[in-house]
Amino acid sequence: MNTQNIIDTAEQNLIHTYNRYQIVLDKGEGVRLFDTDGKEYLDFGAGIAVFALGYNNKEYNDALKAQIDKLIHTSNYFYNEPAANAAKALTKASGMDRVFFTNSGTEAVEGAIKLAKKYAYLKDGNTDHEIIAMEHSFHGRSMGALAVTRNKHYQEAFGPMIPGIKFAKYNDLESVEALVNEKTCAIIFETVQGEGGVYPAKKEFIEGVRKLCDEKGILLILDEIQCGMGRTGSMFAYQQYGVKPDIVTSAKALGCGVPVGAFLAREEVAKALVPGDHGTTYGGNPLACAAAVKVFELFDSLKVLDNVKEVGAYLAEQLDKLAKEYDIIKERRGVGLIQGIELTINPKDVIAKALDNGLILFSAGTNVIRFVPPLVITKADVDEMIVKLKKSIDSAV
Ligand SMILES: *Cc1c(COP(=O)(O)O)cnc(C)c1O
Repeated sequence: MNTQNIIDTAEQNLIHTYNRYQIVLDKGEGVRLFDTDGKEYLDFGAGIAVFALGYNNKEYNDALKAQIDKLIHTSNYFYNEPAANAAKALTKASGMDRVFFTNSGTEAVEGAIKLAKKYAYLKDGNTDHEIIAMEHSFHGRSMGALAVTRNKHYQEAFGPMIPGIKFAKYNDLESVEALVNEKTCAIIFETVQGEGGVYPAKKEFIEGVRKLCDEKGILLILDEIQCGMGRTGSMFAYQQYGVKPDIVTSAKALGCGVPVGAFLAREEVAKALVPGDHGTTYGGNPLACAAAVKVFELFDSLKVLDNVKEVGAYLAEQLDKLAKEYDIIKERRGVGLIQGIELTINPKDVIAKALDNGLILFSAGTNVIRFVPPLVITKADVDEMIVKLKKSIDSAV
């Protein structure tokens, strides 16, 4: 099929939930993608913060191929070696005690919410517990995750939402305190808000919420689906704050392209779920877990965290410089390789021009261009991106 045929076939057959760019991506190599017409793109989106190791990593591909030839799926009624190893690697990396594997981020959030509710139920026998989430949050599209996602358009047609959800202002401890009552069982937020516009949590906020949770016996759920797995320069972003959550969610870069997510908890909390309480057919299957195991190995051997710290700081510096040059850039925010620039205009024209110039960027929130490249990018890639971005801004405004 030629490019137009592929687009037409997709448009005729897929439910129209996305306004897609008129580009058919065909293959990838390192931090570059190629479309079906052979055009090259420098990728500062990584499939929405997923492909941390870059495309076509031979060791990763070989590990998956070997697992495909061995065993792809078993069900959770049996053990499999990749799941055991992935669980060990993930608990070690996160400092949590136990993990449940899912197939996506939204399912990880569902599991986290269910775990928090069960834990609270075991304590007081009540079934009307409340959860506090944040303005501008994004936790996924399934009904539980959607209920804690503060976005009018995402929620409006799909009510009623699950009850007992309240929204506080992110980075505003008082607004959280004001919503706490004896029914509150959990507080959930992203350590760095991604979709909402790239807002890192302030240290006082995250410390304050942790203290509040400790005082009131409330569980702290940190959603690290986007900002975890090395993106901020530590395996999980909360590790830079010296704060430990009770429950953590992970996905996106965890499998680097193979769908795998997880929720993790400390022992006392994890114990609340017993056989029959929660389950999944695919979650934790050998193929997905073989991917996660190899991702952890490659994070070590490629020294990914060191690269994120170094190149992330460089990216921030270059974006700060750009912000001084261009009046339409209001602010740069971010940590490591999750960065955003807030514009005074809608970024959609800049992003379209960037595609023309061979650069993939995503937006976030209303006026933010988000930079979530593969974690293996170099300073030279950043330089190339900046040149292309300048050209795109110049022709868009
Ligand atoms: C992407 C994302 C999700 C949802 O993950 P899916 O795999 O798309 O279901 C949840 N929380 C955060 C913070 C995310 O960035």
